[in-house]
Formats: sequence, C-alpha cells, structure tokens
Amino acid sequence: MPQAAAVATIASNDRYPLGDFLSDIAGIAASTEFVDRKRRSRDYFWYSPILQEKLKDKLADIVVTPRDEVEVVRVAAACAKHRIPLTVRGGATGNYGQCVPLESGVVLDMALLNRIEWQKPGLVRVQAGAKLYDIDAATRPNGFELRMHPSTKRSAAIGGFVAGGSGGVGSVTFGGMREPGNIVAARIVTLEREPRIIELRGDAAQKISRAYGTTGIITVLEMPLAPAQAWIDVIVAFDDFIEAVRFGHTVAMADGIVKKLLSPVEWPVPRHFTAFRSYCPDGKSLLTCMIGEMSIDSFEALLAPSGGMITYKAPSEDLPSKVPLYEHTWNHTTLQMLKSDRGVTYLQCLYPHERFVEAVDRVGKLFGDEVLQHLEFMRLNGYMTASGIPIIRYRSRERLDEIIGGFEACGVMIANPHVVTLEDGSRYKRVDADQLGFKHEVDPMGLLNPGKMRSFVPQAGSAEV
Ligand SMILES: Cc1cc2nc3c(=O)[nH]c(=O)nc-3n(C[C@H](O)[C@H](O)[C@H](O)COP(=O)(O)OP(=O)(O)OC[C@H]3O[C@@H](n4cnc5c(N)ncnc54)[C@H](O)[C@@H]3O)c2cc1C
Repeated sequence: MPQAAAVATIASNDRYPLGDFLSDIAGIAASTEFVDRKRRSRDYFWYSPILQEKLKDKLADIVVTPRDEVEVVRVAAACAKHRIPLTVRGGATGNYGQCVPLESGVVLDMALLNRIEWQKPGLVRVQAGAKLYDIDAATRPNGFELRMHPSTKRSAAIGGFVAGGSGGVGSVTFGGMREPGNIVAARIVTLEREPRIIELRGDAAQKISRAYGTTGIITVLEMPLAPAQAWIDVIVAFDDFIEAVRFGHTVAMADGIVKKLLSPVEWPVPRHFTAFRSYCPDGKSLLTCMIGEMSIDSFEALLAPSGGMITYKAPSEDLPSKVPLYEHTWNHTTLQMLKSDRGVTYLQCLYPHERFVEAVDRVGKLFGDEVLQHLEFMRLNGYMTASGIPIIRYRSRERLDEIIGGFEACGVMIANPHVVTLEDGSRYKRVDADQLGFKHEVDPMGLLNPGKMRSFVPQAGSAEV
C-alpha cells in the first residue's frame, strides 16, 4: 500500500501514533492491509489448543519489510521514538507464538535481508533473513553444510532458528544451538532513539540465542559449518519401540559412525507418514536415520544382531519439490499426524543421559496410547541423550499437566510448549541471567517482542532513552 494511503487508514489507532511512525519511515515498505497483518501475525502456535485460544486474535498494526540494515535502524529508531512494540519475524515456523505480536505494533519481516555475505572453509556469514535451505544450497558446492538445521529447513530463516530454535538435524553430532561454538558471531541492532549496531562474538553471541528476538534485532550471523556429506536416508523397522531406542542409542554412541539424524518413533505414528508409508510396516516402530555414506557398512554391521530390518535405504534428496525423510522427525512428526488427526498435541522433553533407556521405557508404560513417543538423539554437554516430542491425545489442560507430572517423575525435563514466555517454556523455568541483563542494555523500554520475557521490568527513566 502506498505510504500516504497507509497513514490515512490507521492514523486513527489510539494505542500508538502510527501515522507519525509511518511518516518517519517514509520510503520503507510497510503494509496496513488487514490480510497482510493477519497473515504475518501468526506462526505454528495452533499445534497447541491452549495457545490457539490465547493467540488467535492477536494482530499487528503494521507490517514493515526492510531491505537492508540501514532500514532496520530507521524502523528501530522510529519505534523507540513513538514507543511502539516491534516483533521480528523470520520464516514464522515457531511453535509457541514467538513471532506473534502480543501487544500489536510493528511486525518486522526480515525476508529481504537474505544475502550470503561471504563463506570460507568451515564458516559462513549471512544476513538473518536467509533461508536455511538456501544457505546449505550455497555452501554445499564448496564442500560444507550447516552443522544443524530444524526439520523446517525448507521454510525457516537462520535468524529465526538462532532466536527461536534449539537444535535439530545434526544435533546428534554437534549438540544444541546453545553448545559453545555453535554460533560464531551475531550482529544486532538495538531498540533505542539512536539505535546502536553491536557485533557479539563467541560466547557473547549466546545472548541472542533462543531469546525470541527480545534482546536485539539480528541482522547478520556467522555460523560454523561441517564438512558436507553424502547422506543416506535409512528406515529400520523394529517389533518394539524400545528396541528401536536401544539400537538408536548404540549408533548414537558409536563415534566412528558419521550421522546426522537418529529418530526412534513408536507405532502407530508411522501410519501417518504418507510420503514413506510403503516403507513403514504395520505394527512396527521405526528408527529413521541419516547416515554418512562411508559409514553405512558399519551401521549395517551394528544392526545385524539387533533384530531390526531395513525397509528403506536411499541417498538423501534434499530437493524443494520432494518431502525429505527429515520432515518426519523433530516437530514434523507431530505435523504429519495433525494432518489427519487434529485431536493431538505435543510436549517437548529432554531425557536424562544416565539410565536413559530405562527412563524412556518407564514413561512409555505410564500412559498407553494417550502418549506416543518419538525421540531425537542429541549430544548435550558431551553426553549422549535424546530430546523427545511425544504426541499427546489432548483431553484437557488439567490432564496435560498430569502427563507433564508423570514425565517429570521419571526424571524427564519438560520445556512446556503451551506457554508464551521464555521463562515458562524453558526447562529451568527462568530466563538466562545474561540475556536479562543484556536486554536492559539493548532494549531499555522493553519494546522488543513485549510479553515474551516475563522477568524484564523497564528501569525508571527508560522512557527518555
Ligand atoms: C513442523 C515444525 C518442525 C519444527 N522442528 C524444529 C526443529 O527440528 N528444531 C527446532 O529447534 N525447532 C523446530 N521447530 C520450531 C521452528 O521451526 C524453528 O525454531 C525455526 O528455526 C524457527 O525459524 P523461523 O525463521 O521460522 O523463525 P520465526 O518463527 O519467524 O521466529 C522465531 C523467533 O525468533 C525471532 N526472530 C526471528 N528472526 C529474528 C531476527 N532476525 N532477530 C531477532 N529475532 C528474530 C522471532 O521474533 C521469534 O521470536 C519446528 C516447528 C515446526 C512447525
């Protein structure tokens, strides 16, 4: 919409001086069209019946799409001047309303900041709106690939993954995003009358990791790369889920076997894997894997005594036109099931690394068909464990709380995905002290994604900043 028309349409909003804001950002693409605002005020929060109720009517006042960092700075300055909330949006594949503007205001769509600035062996520097798929496509011809990506690789942006994600395909080898070294540097714009540009390097870059965009607008990231592999997708069928878990653990612990994904999934979930259904025998639980081509013989040798049967083995084809095997793991498993059964939801768990198989087994026996398990093996602080995204037949909020209690009683940590704040959704129920302190420095008025960092209270006098 042309700027003048946009100003006229919304100047009447009595919450924020939107007309003045639009005048200040003249020349930057902005939309006040209802359809744009509606569409870009959502993510995948609808997985949760609780968040669906809470967030379905939230709506931005304006969607702004900057072309470069200079425009990001102008938008940040205008938001600070008029005290308008700003919520950054990447690919909008988050699951807990992370990019939903709880207090309306501006949604900043980063889609056009999508350039790869440079790459060298083991390292890439990219603008935050670049899609993960495009980054891999650009680095693989040079022999490197991202160390990890969420199962939403085909639609998520690198800025959104770093600010909203936790780990994914590749975490079995490299751990989660929070492991030291998994973010090399981040460049951010602060939200102040005169925004600053700060380059965070090394450990300091963790200040923006999974902070839901509350600690600065990320414009550029430097990410470490791994040597690119010829990956082989493998599906192994087992009579029993726990056998798939046991064998998955054996492979996970075999350091010489190059792997990117090991995901045991309990029958009947594979019944919903439409693209691979013919490789999912009725009644069998699966281990879905991505194994380095050079390790496939060793993998099969380990498998021989386990009772598992390979039903599918083919080179990974990561094409835009084809549903990849990894889109049946991590939170895509829930999506495959939701496509035909809207009565389910999910939880996010971290299993203890000690007596790991026992914990999985104990949880499995607690709830029968009401809870269907699938796990993704991942390294954490040097130990091998698994993240789990069990699929839950949803009855009520109270019942969900009982199920959470059952998991916790078995020593499994829960990061509750049915809440919107960083604190409530974290495994430790608090926000990182570093991140809270940093927020006071970079967003003293609390305008970045307000409502998501509950512990933050603006200090007296921050209005004048
Ligand atoms: C089917 C499905 C599967 C998933 N699988 C995984 C998985 O394997 N692993 C995983 O970790 N997550 C997973 N997720 C969650 C989500 O897809 C990922 O976290 C993804 O990386 C988010 O990226 P995005 O670009 O879509 O971010 P968005 O949803 O757009 O944003 C996420 C958060 O980051 C903030 N943000 C975005 N860009 C910036 C920026 N430039 N500066 C500051 N803040 C910013 C947003 O404000 C928001 O708070 C899954 C979700 C779905 C729906």
